Amino acid sequence: MSSSYAPPVQRLVGELSKLPGIGSRTAQRLAFHILRASAEDADALAEAIREVKQKIGLCEVCFNLTDQPRCRICQDPRRDHGLICAVEEPSDVIPMERTHEYHGVYHVLGGALSPIDGVEPEHLKISELFARVASAGGGADGARVREVVLATNPTTTGEATALHIADALRERAPAVTVTRLASGLPVGADLEYADEVTLGKALAGRRTL
Ligand SMILES: [Zn+2]
Repeated sequence: MSSSYAPPVQRLVGELSKLPGIGSRTAQRLAFHILRASAEDADALAEAIREVKQKIGLCEVCFNLTDQPRCRICQDPRRDHGLICAVEEPSDVIPMERTHEYHGVYHVLGGALSPIDGVEPEHLKISELFARVASAGGGADGARVREVVLATNPTTTGEATALHIADALRERAPAVTVTRLASGLPVGADLEYADEVTLGKALAGRRTL
């Protein structure tokens, strides 16, 4: 199909079609857009890709994405460094921040446990989380960690990861409170439309008023 294109065009289409959600037709459309664009715009795109790979790494404390040794959240003295929220991916930090409800710090695990796919505890930043909790200065500013919020996804692998970490923390650090995000009912939704898993969890996670 794309074999009638000159090799450089084929190469661009091939690279673009590796992106998530980009099929071969969209890849061709994007490639032709880039071909029509000015040399400056095309260079800016190539340079942005190169720069993000060169400059962005993982925070040495929480493993969130950062262009410095420590991310902005870990460096912020106004954050509660005794409260750690464990999430699966760096992209999970963004919705948590958007709530403006959370003022602690994070720990990005780098995925969720899935023995079927070969993802075992040692493949995630789980031991690093235990080390943070165990060390006196675990909160990055010398604060002792009081609470770990397990905010892994409400999926089979996310739940398994949360259970694994909760069990281990109960043993290693009994003084630390371990909490899980309440999987609540969607705001504005009728009870009758909630599936039983969601409703069961909302009931189990009920709070006193
Ligand atoms: Zn950090």
